[in-house]
Amino acid sequence: MGNFDLASKLEDPSLFIQKAFVDGEWMAAGSGATFDVLDPATGLRIASVPDLDAGDLEKAIHAASHAQKSWAKLTGKQRASMLRRFHDLVVAHVDDLAIILTAEMGKPLQEARGEILYGAAYIEWFAEEAKRLNGDVIPAHQADKRILVLRRPVGVVGAITPWNFPNAMLARKLAPALAVGCSIIAKPAAQTPLSALALAVLSERAGIPRGIFNVVTSSDAEMVGQSFCANELVAKISFTGSTNVGRILMRQGADQIKKLSLELGGNAPFIVFDDADIDAAVEGAVAAKFRNAGQTCVCANRIYVQSSVYDEFAAKLAKRVDALKVGNGFDAGVEIGPLIDGNAMKKVKSHLDNALANGARVVAGGSSVQTGGQFFAPTVLVGVTSDMKVTREETFGPLAPLISFDTEEEVIRSANDSEFGLAGYFYSKDLARIFRVAEDMETGMVGVNTGLISTELAPFGGVKQSGLGREGSKYGLDDYTELKYVCLGL
Ligand code: NAP
Repeated sequence: MGNFDLASKLEDPSLFIQKAFVDGEWMAAGSGATFDVLDPATGLRIASVPDLDAGDLEKAIHAASHAQKSWAKLTGKQRASMLRRFHDLVVAHVDDLAIILTAEMGKPLQEARGEILYGAAYIEWFAEEAKRLNGDVIPAHQADKRILVLRRPVGVVGAITPWNFPNAMLARKLAPALAVGCSIIAKPAAQTPLSALALAVLSERAGIPRGIFNVVTSSDAEMVGQSFCANELVAKISFTGSTNVGRILMRQGADQIKKLSLELGGNAPFIVFDDADIDAAVEGAVAAKFRNAGQTCVCANRIYVQSSVYDEFAAKLAKRVDALKVGNGFDAGVEIGPLIDGNAMKKVKSHLDNALANGARVVAGGSSVQTGGQFFAPTVLVGVTSDMKVTREETFGPLAPLISFDTEEEVIRSANDSEFGLAGYFYSKDLARIFRVAEDMETGMVGVNTGLISTELAPFGGVKQSGLGREGSKYGLDDYTELKYVCLGL
């Protein structure tokens, strides 16, 4: 295996770190073990990072618990000013952070840049919210009593994040946690730990005290989940990833009634009604389906098109998708990077094969669906039905299945026929229909006449088996605080 020289690509090579960050120290694993981080576009080795074990985790948890007490005692304004500095440093280093992200994850450099700024926006937002952790005074039930409601930080947060947004999924957790006075131990996905470590470098430069933001790298995710769940010093687990691992954490956390935020899988419906602006719907579908090569939790997974506009939409989408440029995320103009690994390739291929075996037809991507390595040509399928794998499961790849429908009632039934409920999208110009469908869609988020919905200003999260809790917006503080009621006798 060859090596990828990441440091030489960076203006500030000190952002490229191959150590874990615990209690303000850059550390190796107690055992000395390491694991490799590979570039998904070339298979080259980028880095070797410490493979921490349960003993190392225990130290991190104790450090985070110790540090949290004094962090929580600072004023909101003091925490806000450090988070603000942290935000400014992230923005100042956006180019280097994007290079690190593209190297370990594969997404096109421009998209990586967008992710860094999106993550930074959460840090900025929650820096501002740190000053507004308002409580309440409730008119009392007796004349000699007063009722105060305070918002207190939950304590130590164990955060587990996925590889598809190595920066932003972590920023969405650490920013509200730190803003309210929690400390955090972040376990990034083994495939993409470098973006999290680079954030830790900048947090240190921003003056965030030792032990408040820790990054633990490990190839043994199960051990990390168990360590968080079994340790009473960890008050809460914030997880983004698959529904299956969400279930495991919920079961493991049951003994200690662990507080949980879960941002889990999606199987987003994307509906095109016959009164829609079809060109706009095509653009929305490209954005919602092919961003990050289809590897986002809010990706359109099932595209329902009303029968009278089905052929027109399919032809326009196929033409647009054929023009998407696939390649190494560092190459100019590339819009679709590699998939994360061989398993991702297998899953997309199996969904495609299953659809083709059951009568679907390829109208973009064609027979050359694989262009080699971990690259999968963006593909559009017509003649797809509700019982195919590609409709029932989250594909997590650049495969757009088009399903025909006749009536609004029918498509709402189909759209809601899923255990997931993260995001849903539809295109229509009929105002009454817009309200009806937006209200009836069983999802935590709805995009109407848009394929892009993520912003730090809005509550991000799902219903049904897509999760618990919300990230971003004024509601995003709730997941990291508890209400304390004080009854004051006069
Ligand atoms: P995953 O397998 O659940 O992995 C996510 C994280 O959990 C990784 O850090 C992983 O570590 C860790 N993990 C794996 N097994 C674990 C266990 N038994 N206990 C504790 N942690 C464990 O998810 P993925 O397939 O990599 O990511 C894609 C999924 O995430 C999709 O379903 C997607 O929809 C979802 N997602 C949801 C959102 C949202 O906001 N709702 C956002 C992004 C992604 P290792 O990688 O080191 O094994």
